[in-house]
Amino acid sequence: MARDLLLVVEIPGSRPMAPAQRCTLCRQTFFCGRGHVYSRKHQRQLKEALERLLPRVEAARKAIRAAQVERYVPEHERCCWCLCCGCEVREHLSHGNLTVLHGGLLEHLASPEHKKATNKFWWENKAEVQMKEKFLVTPQDYAR
Ligand SMILES: [Zn+2]
Ligand SMILES: [Zn+2]
Repeated sequence: MARDLLLVVEIPGSRPMAPAQRCTLCRQTFFCGRGHVYSRKHQRQLKEALERLLPRVEAARKAIRAAQVERYVPEHERCCWCLCCGCEVREHLSHGNLTVLHGGLLEHLASPEHKKATNKFWWENKAEVQMKEKFLVTPQDYAR
């Protein structure tokens, strides 16, 4: 009764010539590979996205010196999209009925994962080097 029905079938045309890459900044699929990041459209999207994130990063940085603690409200559950890591990050840090404002984002910015992802992101997107430091928090920043 045992009949070998397992056949590996290669469907012609199922594999594209080059892997399609999706640009999360421009929200479009492109095939031209590396060249895309140099395009004016991509660089403009990148600048705008970084400028949107920057005020929240700056607020988190200020919280190093003067941590603000508030009574917990559901609004503190808010997340912030980290462009470099491509993930949601809790902006604030809640302990019971208290919230350390910007604590979540600050912890994220200081994490080695974020540093690694930021370096990769900057390299892949050919972003301005001077801008990078603004999106990183080093242990020295804490010590100051
Ligand atoms: Zn793009
Ligand atoms: Zn990150």
